[in-house]
Amino acid sequence: MDLLEVALPIFTDKNNRLKEFRIPVSRILDLPVGMYVKFVHCRKDDEPYNVYIHPFSNFIDEDSNHLLHNQYYKTLKDALKAVDSILQNPLWSPFHSSFMLEEKNIKSPHIAFYEKYKNNDKIKLPVGECCVCNDVVQSETSCGHRLCLRCHIKIEEEADKKKTQEEYNINCPMCRQEYTLTLH
Ligand SMILES: [Zn+2]
Ligand SMILES: [Zn+2]
Repeated sequence: MDLLEVALPIFTDKNNRLKEFRIPVSRILDLPVGMYVKFVHCRKDDEPYNVYIHPFSNFIDEDSNHLLHNQYYKTLKDALKAVDSILQNPLWSPFHSSFMLEEKNIKSPHIAFYEKYKNNDKIKLPVGECCVCNDVVQSETSCGHRLCLRCHIKIEEEADKKKTQEEYNINCPMCRQEYTLTLH
């Protein structure tokens, strides 16, 4: 199947003002996602095709507006190539809470910096280890503990299975307080 063949009619249809294609995928690795290709009219540069991935989580800090991937491309073909690359070989960066296109982008200099200075109690670093899986992350709970997005989603899904009513709470694995997650 050629993605371009499926997507092209959506983007060339003059009556379709939205010009957005939802990729029919509901999870990438173990994360529940919404993945889209969108034609953005108002972009002044010549990269109007936006590929973005939405996280599905009720307990991410609303102000963060964090996307799990957000890149612009010149052509629909380039955009769909990026989609295909993510679907064929998803590269997840716990540090960026994002899907990356290249392995080299996953390792941030921050991680090396963290490794060097993590035991230095004279300074405070803006990153730390996820209290569940120990990946180095920027994300933080409202109670001040480091937690990666994947571990957060697992906690949320467990709580969702156990819930007895419409409203449910999720608790921090470190201090058991209710929390929301902020992704930086
Ligand atoms: Zn984790
Ligand atoms: Zn906590």
